[in-house]
Amino acid sequence: SPDAKQSVPEDSINVVIRCRPLSQKEIEAHDASVVTFPGGGQILLSGLDSIIHGDNGPKTKQFSFNVVFEPRAQQPDVFLYSGMTRLVQMAIEGFSTTCFCYGQTGSGKTHTLTGPPGMFNRKKPIFLSPFCSQFNRKKPPDPLHPDHGIIFRSFLYLFSLLQDRQDVHYVLKATFLEIYNEKVIDLLNNTRRSLPVRWSKKSRSFFVENLFTVDCEELDDLLAVLEEGMRNRSVGAHAMNDVSSRSHTMLTISITSEQLMDNGVYITKAGKINFVDLAGSEMTKKTLSEGKTLREANNINKSLMVLGYCISSLSDPKKRGGHIPYRDSKLTKLLADSLAGSGVTLMIATISPALSNISESLNTLRYAARAK
Ligand code: ADP
Ligand code: MG
Repeated sequence: SPDAKQSVPEDSINVVIRCRPLSQKEIEAHDASVVTFPGGGQILLSGLDSIIHGDNGPKTKQFSFNVVFEPRAQQPDVFLYSGMTRLVQMAIEGFSTTCFCYGQTGSGKTHTLTGPPGMFNRKKPIFLSPFCSQFNRKKPPDPLHPDHGIIFRSFLYLFSLLQDRQDVHYVLKATFLEIYNEKVIDLLNNTRRSLPVRWSKKSRSFFVENLFTVDCEELDDLLAVLEEGMRNRSVGAHAMNDVSSRSHTMLTISITSEQLMDNGVYITKAGKINFVDLAGSEMTKKTLSEGKTLREANNINKSLMVLGYCISSLSDPKKRGGHIPYRDSKLTKLLADSLAGSGVTLMIATISPALSNISESLNTLRYAARAK
């Protein structure tokens, strides 16, 4: 609605940083930690002389962000202090919102969104139907597990908010897709056929044609979608080498509400939350240096590069009102309504503290600082 658009704050992209702990493997290899937190939202990267050579090069570099999650921050902290709760509230109010994780492979994107590997390790498929999503599902995941990521916690919060609003009728629908080589693949319908992205005149946004959509009446329906999509993603990862670091996944919850006011006014709102697990940020360079086919490299680069370009243009007051190239990649087409206009986006940039990853951590912090 036009009213809602006016009340949107200027800052439509929020950036937070999460640094994971050193892994067991890194500790055993005596990999040093090069990230420290002097306080006040500062992050200090030291040991840069190992990658920037020359006598006058800087040894350290400091970055500043409003919200920084140090290695000891736990999953509930990230949900509560990242701004995610605001996104859920706004999605209910009819806004398009996106939470995406950006960072190199192994930095904790999937951990932040869904938890450690094995959190959702279902082997057998769930028979999802558009109306009854989980009739063959016996063991739902434990809702109190401390390692649940931001997606599960958002589901819980969403249902708690909806239960408080008995005067409003809500319809929730979920889809789960993967973008690999600029092809959109449905993670809820594992034919792995590429689906077209089209423009809808009616909703004035891009959508994926023939995407399997599940009506979710209960929390468990949303969870079944998450589980089944994660399962199909890992099935694909076996078939194609390391697909998870090369592909983007997007889980979308759309929320439509209908409310009849006392004065006879009838209000419909349509909002959504996209959860996006991006391809590893190192892909841009790696694909080229490893001699992948130009087409593959180009396509893998495309969604990540265009996203970066859109975000830095949106964060630059001089460019914000100009042309933003959403149409140049599948990912940015699908995220356009939450990046632009009345949308809200949360970017969680994940980094590793290890010296062996320092150049990727530097790239990620630079990217994140540009998006601020
Ligand atoms: P990505 O998705 O960015 O490639 P993952 O989320 O798979 O990285 O993380 C790599 C490994 O590190 C996983 O085993 C994951 O559980 C672990 N990990 C990542 N972030 C954290 C964290 N904040 N705390 C504990 N373990 C983490
Ligand atoms: Mg991952």
